[in-house]
Amino acid sequence: MDVNRSRHRLLIVEQRCIGCGNCVIECPVQVLQLHPVTKKVKIVYQELCIGCYSCVQVCPSDATCLEDPYTMFVQ
Ligand code: SF4
Ligand code: SF4
Repeated sequence: MDVNRSRHRLLIVEQRCIGCGNCVIECPVQVLQLHPVTKKVKIVYQELCIGCYSCVQVCPSDATCLEDPYTMFVQ
């Protein structure tokens, strides 16, 4: 059986985050949460990230970015 496993590493530049929550709302797999006190976004379940770039696209302050994902194919 072929296994196609992709991993994506999301990075947050916390100083740029204005706490709008756009990325939390748009993430389809609940990788992100807003900290209840600081109102800065934090990565909660990095391992769930599917690399869809939604959080990057909706961030008004360029606080989110994805490292180049690597894809591992096992045949
Ligand atoms: S790239 Fe997609 S899956 Fe990953 S954290 Fe951003 S919105 Fe969520
Ligand atoms: S979209 Fe950008 S500014 Fe808004 S909460 Fe997410 S990281 Fe912060």
